[in-house]
Amino acid sequence: MKPAALSTGIFAAAAAFIAAAASAHGATAPIALVVDAREAPRNILHITETVPVNTSGPMTLYYPLWIPGEHSPSGPIQGVASLHIRANGSDVAWTRDPVDLATFHLTPPPGATSLDVSFDNLITASDPMATPNIVIINWNRVLLYPAGRPSSDIDFTPSIILPAGWTFGTALSGPKRNVDRVDFATTSLLTLVDSPLDAGRYGRRIVLLDDGGYSNEIDAFGDAPEDLGLSDENVQHYKSLIAEADALYGARHWRHYHFLLTLTDAIPGQGIEHHESSDNRASADYWTNAAQLEGGADLLPHEYSHSWNGKYRRPADLIQPDYQKPERTDLLWVYEGLNQYLGDMLAFRSGFVPTSEYPEYLANIYAQMDYEPGRLADPLVDTAVAAPYLYNAPDEWSSQRRSAGDFYTEGELVWLSVDAIIRAQSHGGRSLDDFLKAFDGQQNTPPMVVPYTRDDVVAALEKVQPYDWNGFFQKWVYDVALHPAAFGIDLTGWRLYWTRTPNHWDDLDEETGGAANFRYSLGFSTGSDGKIDDVLAGSPAAIAGIGPQTQIVAVNGRKFSIEGLHRAVADAKDPNRPIDLIVLDDDLYRTVDISYHGGDRYPHLERVPGNDDVLRLITAPRRKP
Ligand SMILES: [Zn+2]
Repeated sequence: MKPAALSTGIFAAAAAFIAAAASAHGATAPIALVVDAREAPRNILHITETVPVNTSGPMTLYYPLWIPGEHSPSGPIQGVASLHIRANGSDVAWTRDPVDLATFHLTPPPGATSLDVSFDNLITASDPMATPNIVIINWNRVLLYPAGRPSSDIDFTPSIILPAGWTFGTALSGPKRNVDRVDFATTSLLTLVDSPLDAGRYGRRIVLLDDGGYSNEIDAFGDAPEDLGLSDENVQHYKSLIAEADALYGARHWRHYHFLLTLTDAIPGQGIEHHESSDNRASADYWTNAAQLEGGADLLPHEYSHSWNGKYRRPADLIQPDYQKPERTDLLWVYEGLNQYLGDMLAFRSGFVPTSEYPEYLANIYAQMDYEPGRLADPLVDTAVAAPYLYNAPDEWSSQRRSAGDFYTEGELVWLSVDAIIRAQSHGGRSLDDFLKAFDGQQNTPPMVVPYTRDDVVAALEKVQPYDWNGFFQKWVYDVALHPAAFGIDLTGWRLYWTRTPNHWDDLDEETGGAANFRYSLGFSTGSDGKIDDVLAGSPAAIAGIGPQTQIVAVNGRKFSIEGLHRAVADAKDPNRPIDLIVLDDDLYRTVDISYHGGDRYPHLERVPGNDDVLRLITAPRRKP
């Protein structure tokens, strides 16, 4: 895209956004939506909608299926129950489409001007969105919308009824609270689905910025007040995050940003990006256990960076007019891969993690990708194309199948390499920061989307630094690559080496109850219960006959413990003495001998003497003191 044409496009699109916002009361009256969340503590939401009728013939209502940011048809249709549609006080029969199961057909009675729609949203243990003290409202889960118009042209006037006394956070505008009912301003379906709401019994609001018409805050909710005890030092790190993102991108595409955050062990970790908010979910001790915050430091930085990279700039083939048409996910290696690099970079620049640990982090992810046997058959781009099903694939055999995590993790190595190449080719004169300002920053705008293609990415990089970028991406993303791109390590003055000392991130994992890493010795990781999710093909464990789902119950005649397995690996120096395991598959016990005598192995980076330390430059804060 040429800069002049791009600028025109931005202003035209911004004007259209503002016009759409101003004409929220167009020809069609808005749909009134009321979500009764008073029974959220027992995992059920009650929904009523008043849908204007503009046709005398058949009508179709959709339940949103393809959810932006989730990159898959993840709308929980199994949670829709007790659907009633009425007009003029009488029931209207509906039928489900036999092929598109999130589609409902009906014919309003003659003369009806509106439909009264009601249904329940059932929350289940496999997809928890509430606890006795917290509820997460993703509006796409609690509405039906009429077919035939794009999501930007359908208006909603949303309301929520909260459990007594609960507080809430959301980027939705114009909240008016009356006791426990909150009415919001009329907005498009597009903005409503982009504006989740968190509410809870115990909330904490932390203002990070309130300046010149812009505001930015964290709205956190926990199961217990003490879980909200973020230290002043970490509050400062979140404030630094706002300054670092400003310095990185040079412009904003939000006006009032809300980091929504739940702190509970009852809802799994997750982060979903939006234009002016993010839906972040972390463990109860995320803010109060230093190892948790360090290990998961990129959660808020990653989702925040998406306001630029992913929401404002978005792959053209991810953009669809409504939530029923499939997204094509091939460019997620840019959307998510670049963002994984930026989220981590911002976490280091903001001070959440000491910059001295960055080489350890890179060694960890490089080894993880390099040891994945699935890479011998599957190019990185295929993990992005297959994302809609890979996101739901089990952990078993993830190294053989490859996973949705790969276009994040290996994508990060690709984009670190791009950064390192720009820095090397320009002799330190330019960096990926210059690309980001030109491609994702541009100029301040309200929330809007500027689409891109692979060619646009290549052309924008070419303007920052002439190089065969197309050939680079072809080799490392689109073709089968035996190893991940290593330019980002080689060109930054470092090299990979192996020792028996655990990598810092393995220590953090074990400290926070995650898996213990034996991947580069025996060929698997295991939790404190001895359960194995995945076994690397060709590893000593695989050769000995161990597969996923096996549970280790004893090591060298003693009850399994992670410490005991570490000791057995360290002690197994005699080539004639294997490591003896007793393992359990379903209800069958058996003994397994693993012949391995190389000791614990962990990846690290070490400095190459004489070269500049470019990793230090990459993680150095940019903000003005
Ligand atoms: Zn992401």
